[in-house]
Amino acid sequence: CGIVGYVGPRNAVQLVFDGLKKLEYRGYDSAGIAAIKNGQVYLEKEKGKLVNLGAKLDQLPSESQLAVGHTRWATHGGPSQVNAHPHQSEGVTIVHNGIIENYDTLKSELKAQGVEFNSDTDTEVIAHVLSQEYAKDSSPQKALLRGIARLNGAYALGVLFSGQADTIFLAKEGSPLVIGVGQDENYFGSDITTFAEVAKQAIFLNDGECASISAKEVRLWDFSGAELKHHYTSINWTP
Ligand code: GLU
Repeated sequence: CGIVGYVGPRNAVQLVFDGLKKLEYRGYDSAGIAAIKNGQVYLEKEKGKLVNLGAKLDQLPSESQLAVGHTRWATHGGPSQVNAHPHQSEGVTIVHNGIIENYDTLKSELKAQGVEFNSDTDTEVIAHVLSQEYAKDSSPQKALLRGIARLNGAYALGVLFSGQADTIFLAKEGSPLVIGVGQDENYFGSDITTFAEVAKQAIFLNDGECASISAKEVRLWDFSGAELKHHYTSINWTP
């Protein structure tokens, strides 16, 4: 139901957890965070309220400079720890808001190819689809574009690809997604409340847009792969 992410020099796990708290008003049944340290992905997720996830935060590296988080409102597969996000497949870790309409067809296709599923979510098909595409040429941008071309439905997606330890990849179709641009650090979230106190500028992604964010760079492109100019909105936040 809500997604958030941070990349930059500060404690990414704590900042993402704080961002998730700001999204609590949207409602949720479980929550999770994935964080990268030294190229390795660490992941914790829990059913129920954020305090449950909060109790596991010390299992995640506080030195991490890149993390993504999720609060889930189950649409496919009941509320449980297994169905909570992030979801993973070889080389890919994702958080997803929305509904994949053709997940049944994709799941049958993938199963016929020998792919094993861990959860009952529609989201897990995205992870496997992206993993298959990433295996073809190890280009995260191309894998993302080819992967989402196989999806029907609504998604705000935050994606980590192995070998890309300092970059978060994003895609939006039908679910809200906004980037917060900071000084040598960048954020994303389902809405600007997740980072409005710290970022001066936002980039509201339109449907049909992808992005990549690292600490020093934000890049945008459309679903055909054409690079887009940044469309900034100033944030004037009075708490
Ligand atoms: N459809 C996905 C699921 O059930 C995402 C739900 C959400 O947006 O929280 O896991």
